[in-house]
Amino acid sequence: MIDETPVLDNHLHLDPDHHRGIDAVRDFARLGGTHLLVVNKPSWHLGVEADTGEDFRPVFERTIEIVDEASAELDGRAWPVLGVHPGLISRLVDDRGLTPEQAGEIMQGGIDVAAEYVDRGEALALKSGRPHYEVEDAVWEAANEVMRHAFAHGADLDCAVQLHAEASEDMTEVTDWAETAGLPATKVVKHYAGGRLDGPVPSVMSEKDRLEVAAKRGEPFLMETDYIDDPDRPGAVLGPKTVPRRVSWLFENGYDEAVRTAHVETPALVYGIDTEATCSSTGQ
Ligand SMILES: [Zn+2]
Repeated sequence: MIDETPVLDNHLHLDPDHHRGIDAVRDFARLGGTHLLVVNKPSWHLGVEADTGEDFRPVFERTIEIVDEASAELDGRAWPVLGVHPGLISRLVDDRGLTPEQAGEIMQGGIDVAAEYVDRGEALALKSGRPHYEVEDAVWEAANEVMRHAFAHGADLDCAVQLHAEASEDMTEVTDWAETAGLPATKVVKHYAGGRLDGPVPSVMSEKDRLEVAAKRGEPFLMETDYIDDPDRPGAVLGPKTVPRRVSWLFENGYDEAVRTAHVETPALVYGIDTEATCSSTGQ
């Protein structure tokens, strides 16, 4: 059955310079995976200490190169998702002594540069969000401002924004901000989500219990691993084989409709991508 469907991991990282890189893509493809959304690693993981938005450019360039290499291994293809990890605000404020406003400015500059790549058709979507842990009010405000800045670009470019944010089942306040900026809620994706979420489209971590909730709910959802490709954190996240394995498991349990939702219909709704037409192995 898995041979007859596209299989998309909506959020993972690849780091061929430090860890498995394209080997992880081969594992994914061997089990039936066809499409990947590759998110740039947090800038500081790559030794980049950002002082301006321009400092993100080499991180984005490297991600685009890696995506080209990944696409060569897939029956479908990979796309880059570029942006600024929300945890950066704490590094800039706590470790480097910047004000929340200064930190927010650097991060908005990074989003501006990411948006250039989307505008040129070199990236599919933007990545933003806010800390998933407690922070002081001024930091929270600055982080929300960065996120709203990403929504404004998303509206401008008609592209989706992936969010990294606190665990929640109701983020309608956030999609209200997006809609005020002109970006529909269907183009706001919450990464690392549970199976149930009001507001953004959940990109569900591919654990069986979360997927079962999403499948039974019948609303648009995506599947992801957040594979981080980091030798220092081998067990931190799900491995690259997980999405294809869970797709097989969903078929075995009769959730055929949910597989179509997560791998064909929701990718079309959120990103405007056609995972069937861009796949050579599914008989399309
Ligand atoms: Zn991630």
